[in-house]
Amino acid sequence: MNTVLITGANRGIGLEFATQYAADGWRVLACCRQPQQATALNQLAKQYQDHVFIYQLDVKQLTAVDQLSQQLHDQTIDILINNAGTYPPAQNGEFGHINYNDWIETFKVNTFAPLKMAEALNEQVARSQHKKIATITSKMGSIDDNQRGGSYIYRTSKTAANMVAKSLAIDLQPRSIISVLLHPGWVQTDMGGQGALISAKQSVAGMKSILDNITLADTGKFLAYDGQHIAW
Ligand code: NDP
Repeated sequence: MNTVLITGANRGIGLEFATQYAADGWRVLACCRQPQQATALNQLAKQYQDHVFIYQLDVKQLTAVDQLSQQLHDQTIDILINNAGTYPPAQNGEFGHINYNDWIETFKVNTFAPLKMAEALNEQVARSQHKKIATITSKMGSIDDNQRGGSYIYRTSKTAANMVAKSLAIDLQPRSIISVLLHPGWVQTDMGGQGALISAKQSVAGMKSILDNITLADTGKFLAYDGQHIAW
């Protein structure tokens, strides 16, 4: 049975990843900050009680990430999905109004956590035949795509996450671990809002298809959910 570990699996895109992989028969290690309040995820774990397991994890807590790794020390993780993400209150990321504390906190989730997860769990990923680490980033982190300015905090956190995943691709290549960056599209979630262009179902189906098909030749790529390459 294949295993996927997902951060931020209680709602939005993370919950949809958990739902689709569970339906495919994968073992799902679903991480979230507050399992007691994760109603939909608990329902999923009840529905698939032999293969969906919930782990409490706030990705900002570096020692908690290490503890999770110890807990999973003898396991194999086929795909690690760094999905958890945060977007600070919009006004706090605009020129003249930057909230520097929000910037640090956003970096902890969007940038530090993907690297920390990879540092802590690469042994479990290396044991797999698939060996994939996916970091859910955003086109808003693309320097080339930035036509509108602003959103300093979120944009920079994702640009830096892109660099993290690119360096991971190089550093982990000798162990045949694939590191890719996935832009989910503009998705109807709490973060994307209801006016967003696509459903979480559509976005995740696209990203899963990419994850199914990528090989070591694709490591370090920055791809949208529909397979398009995104400029750095
Ligand atoms: P949501 O806001 O709907 O969900 C965010 C998830 O991240 C929640 O599960 C949340 O948990 C979790 N999270 C936030 N902080 C932490 C933390 N410290 N520790 C653990 N989990 C945490 O966002 P989406 O589902 O839309 O976004 C998922 C990913 O996709 C993010 O990385 C986002 O940046 C990216 N993305 C989304 C886009 C969109 O249009 N929706 C577009 C481009 C990128 P909790 O419920 O506890 O807060």
